[in-house]
Amino acid sequence: ASKGGGGASLTTKIMVGMGAGVVLGVILNQIGSEWIDTYIVEGLFWMVGTMFVNALKMLVVPLVFFSLLCGVTGIGDIRVLGRVGSRSFGLYLLTTAIAIAVAITLALIIGPGKGFDMTGVDTSGVSAAEAPSVWQVFAGIVPTNPIAAFANGEMLQVIFYTCVLGIAVLMMGDRSEPFVAACEYMNEVMMKIVAIVMMFAPYGVFALISRTFAEQGIELFVPVILYVVTLVGALLLHLFGTLSLLLRTLAGLNPITFMRKMRPAQIFAFSTASSNATIPVTYRSVTERIGVDGSVASFTVPFGATINMDGTAIMQGVATVFLANVYGIDLGIAGYLTVIGMAVLASIGTAGVPGVGLVMLTMVLTQVGLPIEGVAIILGVDRLMDMIRTAVNITGDAVVSTIVAKGEGKLDMAVFDNPDAGVIYD
Ligand code: ASP
Repeated sequence: ASKGGGGASLTTKIMVGMGAGVVLGVILNQIGSEWIDTYIVEGLFWMVGTMFVNALKMLVVPLVFFSLLCGVTGIGDIRVLGRVGSRSFGLYLLTTAIAIAVAITLALIIGPGKGFDMTGVDTSGVSAAEAPSVWQVFAGIVPTNPIAAFANGEMLQVIFYTCVLGIAVLMMGDRSEPFVAACEYMNEVMMKIVAIVMMFAPYGVFALISRTFAEQGIELFVPVILYVVTLVGALLLHLFGTLSLLLRTLAGLNPITFMRKMRPAQIFAFSTASSNATIPVTYRSVTERIGVDGSVASFTVPFGATINMDGTAIMQGVATVFLANVYGIDLGIAGYLTVIGMAVLASIGTAGVPGVGLVMLTMVLTQVGLPIEGVAIILGVDRLMDMIRTAVNITGDAVVSTIVAKGEGKLDMAVFDNPDAGVIYD
């Protein structure tokens, strides 16, 4: 569905951008010229890609602020707010726990890493991250300085502060009307800015993808191919098994329709490897394509981008089994339960930004006593794995948003059933 005088729709252009990016990236990687690396890959492509990701990030905090303020004041009832909050929190934890449990089981069956030869692996530069305690994670939700929270993009703190502000605005009664109207206006303005940034999406996606593929050597995949296959298998199983099943059983929705509507957002997540940077696109997909009311999505989408990381948890599970096999250590049931608990907890406290999954992995490994140097083995393939798991992460956010909205009677089925609803870019 294109607008503005024929031509392909922006969605199609973005898909073309992605495809062309992969092809060109692989070709540039094979040519391997220093000139191309310096001026094209690390020069032009880096610049265009970075500009695009920066532009997305630039939208996140104001978009979340205004849409969430509208959401809270729009719901108008603190009890409903509490219900949306606790249900989405519960579902986020549950889906993450299922994701990693299934991933560990699959990895134990396939058994990647057995007989792996560690000689020749450069383990310098791998250091363990300190795992925060449960208490620290929850205490950190309350900001000391809201301006600092906004400036640093601390999503949980931004969400917390905005919810409290919204509740206070509600308590002011009629006197809040002009302010609420101004927020609604600003919310629409933010959506316009999203649309402006989206016009550059095909070029941004193209630059990001070609640079990644130009940098990724195929040879890096050979030694860890079974790890990659197991991980991708577990990610696909989560998308088309667990999440699809939940959509069907808990919300009575057709998962195929759902997944089709999520494809553009998945491409953004794939090219940026950041759930946070993808928030504007996830939000628009969930509200305008799937039909979730803004009052629910304005809370569940940024909340999910921060605390819900199904794909990342799956990677923790597969990587732990892989490394346990490499080192010939049997973790036992208790060990794997610890991995599940740690991965779920770690996903709450860490932001959805590129590469954070590896940092979480060092926490998990330390907890179960596996040598963290093992991370070096999978380092080379992690960027691509990060891209894939981020697409799964944001799909999980959207699934939970939809299920919660359905339960609240805030899912517009006319939008969900309309294949052309909300062409999010044009
Ligand atoms: N990049 C992922 C995300 O933003 C996190 C990770 O697995 O590294 O969701």
